[in-house]
Amino acid sequence: MVPMVDGAELREALERWFGFPTFRPSQEAIVRDVLGGRDVFALLPTGGGKSLCYQLPAVLTPGLTVVVSPLIALMKDQVDALDTAGVAATAVNSSLAWPEMRRRLDGLERGDYKLLYVAPERLTLPGFADDLERWGVARFVVDEAHCISEWGHDFRPEYRRIAPLRARFPAVPFCAFTATATARVRDDVVAQLGLRRPAIHVASFDRANLTYRVLHAPRTVEALVAWLRARPDDEAGIVYAGSRANTEKLADALSAAGVPALAYHAGLDAATRAQRQEAFIRDDARVMCATIAFGMGIDKSNVRFVVHWDVPRSLEGYYQETGRAGRDGLPAECAWFFAYGDIARVERFIAEKPEGEQAAAREQLERIKRYAYSNDCRRRELLAYFGETYPHEHCGGCDNCLQPRASFDATVDAQKLLSCVYRVREAHGYGVGITHVVDVLLGAKTEKIERWFHERLSTYGIGKDRDRRTWRHLADELLRLGLIAQDPERHNVVSLTEAGKRALVQRTPIEVRQAVAPVAVRRGRSAPAPVPGDEDYDRDLFAALRMLRREIAAERDVPPYVVFSDAVLRAMARDVPRTPAQLRAISGVGEKKLADFGARFLATIAENAG
Ligand code: ADP
Ligand code: ZN
Repeated sequence: MVPMVDGAELREALERWFGFPTFRPSQEAIVRDVLGGRDVFALLPTGGGKSLCYQLPAVLTPGLTVVVSPLIALMKDQVDALDTAGVAATAVNSSLAWPEMRRRLDGLERGDYKLLYVAPERLTLPGFADDLERWGVARFVVDEAHCISEWGHDFRPEYRRIAPLRARFPAVPFCAFTATATARVRDDVVAQLGLRRPAIHVASFDRANLTYRVLHAPRTVEALVAWLRARPDDEAGIVYAGSRANTEKLADALSAAGVPALAYHAGLDAATRAQRQEAFIRDDARVMCATIAFGMGIDKSNVRFVVHWDVPRSLEGYYQETGRAGRDGLPAECAWFFAYGDIARVERFIAEKPEGEQAAAREQLERIKRYAYSNDCRRRELLAYFGETYPHEHCGGCDNCLQPRASFDATVDAQKLLSCVYRVREAHGYGVGITHVVDVLLGAKTEKIERWFHERLSTYGIGKDRDRRTWRHLADELLRLGLIAQDPERHNVVSLTEAGKRALVQRTPIEVRQAVAPVAVRRGRSAPAPVPGDEDYDRDLFAALRMLRREIAAERDVPPYVVFSDAVLRAMARDVPRTPAQLRAISGVGEKKLADFGARFLATIAENAG
């Protein structure tokens, strides 16, 4: 039980099995505690490298490491990745046909495997504990351990079946891993699993390679298309939408505009969902327009962007969803296309919830609103939510740090807009939306304006000197400042608030912030720690390597990122290795992968490198 491996041996094993020259922050300390036979509780952000923390100890010690995992897709991914790295691993679950199951069980009897992945349900099947006893369990690992807590966002009652194993295997250590960070969930996991004086590791939640932006500009499908077109067309990403209808609408609109996209939501039948998820994971589909039903179980490490089209449910949810970008450590973009109108919609949803749930939901909304409107570093704000203090003033990786939005005096235009809202409302009684108000300002000739004789209003055409975009943005700003408000029932209908009326009468100076064009801007060089992978590499060679990776993945029937991550391919396209030794020196190229794929990658490099 005492650690029998020194630092050099640990690093050698890391190099040999995984091809990595160094540990990520926290990994080494966790590995040491796992090797030392302690109970462990480890909290690492998504992409932090949790799997390695128990996989490396598994290959270094005798006995079987049993990993409890919530989804068959996740198990399959992990087993594929281990297999490809040359580590003997398997999974037993209900999806297997009997002959295959028999084959795996026989292997377990013989002690062929270092790791076994199982769903929690299996743990209480009759006879399974006896099986485990015969197979010689070295440790239990609980992956996605927050699933055991009702306070988490993903409670799975089956996880409650894990704790009773403790009594049956009193001497076997338990290790729990999660990326869900709230203190309440953390304490609950430790208690529910009955961890004994666990070594607790909490890594920083900063994802330095992610750039966070909240795009304050009129939110249109065209803006999204332009944003996606500005990115390399071999990049894959997720667009999260709040409703099934929106995922379909966006996927259709993007596809029609020449950006191939699929929709994914819980309303699709299981076969369609599985097929679409597979297409995304295998790099066959570029954009997935999805509800948050799409998420856990997606281990795809080369998700290059996550867009939010609707208001996230909470800041925690936002962090988890954006966290699916850039697990390979390469730069990735998180962009929220913000639309003020959505806030009113969410408020209406909240009002329809049972009384008891409203306060918490309002608090979440306030928090997310504050985040959207903030002028301060977004990373600092996100980390603060998890109780972490960001040590720099500017991160160089969020819109507020990269392109601070200037404020300017907009009193004259704001007066025009406020008085137009007032006049139109007065004339119309029932109330109209902001689009109509802007039409009146612009002196447009619409059917509504003619029908209601709004060309007779004193504010008709007084805003001709500005374009529609400018007025829409100003309206958003006045909403933000609370000078106009939307009707909670019919959220398009606007009216002046008391503050708005006062501002109009007293001609109060009004400052607003500039709109930001929703164009992807490359990350600046001013980040505290530059993110590796963004440097120059041979793009054509990278493309050729990706093709080869896809070919190999298809032959082996595994996802491409299991063969090599994008980070590894980029390093190859930068360093252009010519010999097996040079290839082996690249981070992520371990012994087994070199033996299996080295020759083919070197051949492709020889053919394509200039
Ligand atoms: P998590 O489960 O915490 O989200 P993973 O275990 O999937 O993270 O690891 C995320 C990515 O980081 C994977 O592509 C993995 O290969 C890579 N990785 C893990 N550890 C290291 C390391 N020490 N050096 C370089 N890359 C690593
Ligand atoms: Zn910042």
